[in-house]
Amino acid sequence: MIQLLDDVLGGHRLTGEEAVGLLKTRDRGVWEIAAAADRMREHKAGDTVTYVRNQNLHVTNICKNICGFCSFGKPKGAKGTYFYGKEQIQEQAALAKDRGVTEICLLSGVHPDFTAESYRDIISWVREVVPRADIHTCSPDEIAWAAKQSGISTAEVIRMLRDAGLGTLQGTAAEILVDRVREIICPRKVSTAGWVRIIKEAHAMGIKSTATIMYGSVDTAEDRIRHLSILRDIQDETGGFTELVPLSWLYEHTPLFESGIAPRGATGREDLLLVAVARLFLDNFDHIQVPWQKVGLKMTSMLLRAGADDIGGTMFVDAVSADAGGEAGGFFDPEEMRRIVDDLGLTLRQRTTTYGPV
Ligand code: SF4
Repeated sequence: MIQLLDDVLGGHRLTGEEAVGLLKTRDRGVWEIAAAADRMREHKAGDTVTYVRNQNLHVTNICKNICGFCSFGKPKGAKGTYFYGKEQIQEQAALAKDRGVTEICLLSGVHPDFTAESYRDIISWVREVVPRADIHTCSPDEIAWAAKQSGISTAEVIRMLRDAGLGTLQGTAAEILVDRVREIICPRKVSTAGWVRIIKEAHAMGIKSTATIMYGSVDTAEDRIRHLSILRDIQDETGGFTELVPLSWLYEHTPLFESGIAPRGATGREDLLLVAVARLFLDNFDHIQVPWQKVGLKMTSMLLRAGADDIGGTMFVDAVSADAGGEAGGFFDPEEMRRIVDDLGLTLRQRTTTYGPV
């Protein structure tokens, strides 16, 4: 393994098979992989750890998909659902503006009545209040749904949303890009082929997106690497991904866990190796993020020495993680980020959504 890690640091592109082998490591080789990934991080990002000052805005938790891994989305008419209108959305946007955010993350359920025009209106309402922040929203699944509802193509939806003020696309709804897994965890979502096609359409229009992986439910090491291979191929072709956001699955109150189909999410070893192997495997990605709201602040610190170079966002609100038992809370204070990053001998820097200076 040491030879393979040396080869990777020397420029060898990991094969899928080699990456699966690394991901399955259970002995102290885990630390060798983390150390190699830390060297690769240093090579790409120097001693800088970045964060974005952002805020989530959840317009609704009503969702047509009801994915088995999610405890946030609820069917229309269910207890505890909500749906904000223009006034409430603009109030939330004004609050975000007062907090000095550079990014607003519109992250909601896929409302069964939403059309392309609904997404366009929501983006425009936010844009009216916060003209300068990046509006980061709409997964490929939401684009596909909006296109179907409005009877237009997905490319037309993306263009419409871009004209309304969309800044960057969310690379969510990817989960695991293996249809066998999607059939179990999110059967109503767009297929792997649909996700890839829509992301490429956005990138071709010059719209950047994140890339995500949601692991730790019924997926295997092979599935995780298959997923990363798809992301690596897209990045080779378009260069449109800003970063990988590894989302460690939070299982509490989810149908998949409660019905006994999936375990209690990934272990600490799996979290560490996912980040480290992703850093080594995704040689065409500049940034790997730590999802602090999924792994907690202490694990966040460790992952910044295992390949990750971005600490994500301030968030302020994160009902998706809170509903699934996330323990890290909704707001990550940059002062606390600085304490964690200083402790590692690294330097914290605020960034824009696309990693520019603020
Ligand atoms: S993961 Fe997203 S699409 Fe799936 S149920 Fe939850 S909110 Fe809806």
